[in-house]
Amino acid sequence: MNAQNQRETERLQKTGVRVQNEISRELEALRGRPDHMPGYDYFIDLLAGGIRPDVLEKRAGKPALNLLCVQAPLELIHAAGFLPFKIFSGSYAADALGADGRLPALTCPMLRAVRGIFRLNDSFSGRPWVLPTTCDWIVNLPRMLRMDNPQFAKWFHWLELPHLKDGDAARERWLAEVFGLKKFLEKTTGVKIDRKRLAASVAVYGRAWEALTRLEERRRAGAVPFVWFLIIANSFFLDAPEQWTNAVNALLPALRGNENKNRVFFAGSPVFFPNFKIPLLLEEAGLTVTGDDLCSSGRVFPGGINAEASSEYEMVAVLAGRYHEGCLCPTFADNDRRINSILGDAGNFEGVVFHVLKGCHPYDMESCLLEEPITRRGLKFLRLETDYTAEDGRNLLTRIEAFGQTL
Ligand code: SF4
Repeated sequence: MNAQNQRETERLQKTGVRVQNEISRELEALRGRPDHMPGYDYFIDLLAGGIRPDVLEKRAGKPALNLLCVQAPLELIHAAGFLPFKIFSGSYAADALGADGRLPALTCPMLRAVRGIFRLNDSFSGRPWVLPTTCDWIVNLPRMLRMDNPQFAKWFHWLELPHLKDGDAARERWLAEVFGLKKFLEKTTGVKIDRKRLAASVAVYGRAWEALTRLEERRRAGAVPFVWFLIIANSFFLDAPEQWTNAVNALLPALRGNENKNRVFFAGSPVFFPNFKIPLLLEEAGLTVTGDDLCSSGRVFPGGINAEASSEYEMVAVLAGRYHEGCLCPTFADNDRRINSILGDAGNFEGVVFHVLKGCHPYDMESCLLEEPITRRGLKFLRLETDYTAEDGRNLLTRIEAFGQTL
């Protein structure tokens, strides 16, 4: 091994230890919180076990399919015999590893961290990938990952997301894309996704959706602190959905409501474990998050469908519609539903905290557009821009505390 390779190997080893330390530190802190309950342990253990597709496969005994973003119908993937594994990382150490001089300075930190974990572990490459073309960073992710592994990835499928949502042409384009995904899955597995298989998977995710909805209701009543809600939602892709659903249902009776004060809605760039900096600062400043629309949390998937559709075609069409209409991603150009969805819940909070990861252009732009209609409704608005770093914590806390006093 030459000196350069030796240095690289050492760097990877050190980063691997740092990533593991970050995870262990956060999980230990969670276990030590006064509001920790035994019902949360299942979700903590999922995150402790490793956020990797090979770990999911071993745990659930089924092959995993790598996925980013929330637009690909999970039911289709499940009906093909796969477990969808959503790739994410909130690790600062992985972000530092992913951020070499070859990437632009303002690359999305979440995807830099994904590149970092990809460099640390090769279990991501040897399985199918489905990538919805949401933001420009996602579109460039395969190029980023091929910098480190030119063989990435053997089975790869783009799911082209129309930037327009409304109108027949957009709906038809999207439906064709979803049928394209179905074809890819059938070709990859040799399994025909017929109506019966699809109906069974729709039922599985329907039960998961019901559990998530009940959890959301408990959160609105102040019974689920934001940090715990995130732990539960972030771990959704780390086990078979049936097990996750059972664990949420088992937890629900133990969740008791609390008096809510300084209630806020949390919107913007996703928050992924172990980067819980902002949610923890909100807690420290005495703010209660009673709702969010993050694709890593409240919008982790868009909801169940009625399985009564009479034919296979109809069922795929209903699923496509559900994922398309239900998606509030700011990468859509015609997305008035998003502001309506936030304001529709306005009686339940006094302000909106908008989280922007540096380099996350879709949410950055959206923060400018949402502030005016939100404040016009008499609600307070706070935009917090941050990166995968702990250094800005004190400054952010000062701003959050000042915001809390205005509520
Ligand atoms: S939407 Fe934002 S957080 Fe998500 S991948 Fe794109 S830039 Fe990153």
